[in-house]
Amino acid sequence: MAAGKGRMSRLLKITRKNILTCALLILAICDLNALPGRKADEPELLFLFKNAYPDVEFNSKYDMEAGDWLIKVTSARLNGTHTKTTELYWSDSRFLPREELKNSENYRKMLYLYSFKIPEPSEFTEDDIIRIKQFTSTENRRNGAIEPPFLYDAIYDTGTRESTEQQIVKIDFLTKSINIHKKIEAPMKRISKKIMALSKQPELQPFFSTLSRTDGYAWRSVRDTKSKSFHSLGLAIDILPRGYYQKVIYWGWQKQLRPDDWYLTPVSKRWTPPEKLIEAFAEEGFIWGGTWIVWDNMHFEYRPELIAYKEYCENNPHR
Ligand SMILES: [Zn+2]
Repeated sequence: MAAGKGRMSRLLKITRKNILTCALLILAICDLNALPGRKADEPELLFLFKNAYPDVEFNSKYDMEAGDWLIKVTSARLNGTHTKTTELYWSDSRFLPREELKNSENYRKMLYLYSFKIPEPSEFTEDDIIRIKQFTSTENRRNGAIEPPFLYDAIYDTGTRESTEQQIVKIDFLTKSINIHKKIEAPMKRISKKIMALSKQPELQPFFSTLSRTDGYAWRSVRDTKSKSFHSLGLAIDILPRGYYQKVIYWGWQKQLRPDDWYLTPVSKRWTPPEKLIEAFAEEGFIWGGTWIVWDNMHFEYRPELIAYKEYCENNPHR
């Protein structure tokens, strides 16, 4: 009997505990639902931007009226003497101002899966080729969705040519000099130092002996498109060797020469920077243009959120 009674009281205890847990849970749900405009979790991927830009503040709150997350982006301005806050909406990683929310289809998502691997033309299927032709058609480049500039303009104060040029600094880089946005001065100097320390290695000697130019800031849009080039922000770097080793370096120039099959140009016929340079850039948050479908083998740009997104997708393959 005593054993039975003990079992019963244990059961009662468990049941009471369960009821209490359920009640608390219901209370919690009701409580949350009772609060208008409650702050639920932030957009799942906003943390990637917070980590990628640690000197920028991202404060989010849900805007019931707009039906989207409003994010206040606060960034230091000229020499850090004052800050500026810009209000942008998440819009599935597009960071749009309120008036552009209705036009979200005109903008690309800022997060896309960047690959470190060069697509191999000999493995392209017919469908791949149709997609490549569509993506690179003059019509799509002129009128397709563009890179949303608003978050970058908020972070880097690059909304106008005048405000941008106040942020441009000239630094020594790989035996040359280059104009870049001052916010990437520190990572650029670290890359240069690391690669210069390796300059005597046989693997890097041909690169240094043929290095002709390093180009950074230039106020312009991406060729044939309405997108503002990363060069316009001072966040892109072109590295050009003399004569390109008789290889091709940019898809657009090859398309002019071979309009029908430029995309089949073998990887071995494209000039490629040393692997160590690509790695050094990636470690500092820069992507290389050589793995894009519209390959641009001279080009690097500062996109720490894309490096972080790639790592996130690799660690969360089922999301
Ligand atoms: Zn470039």
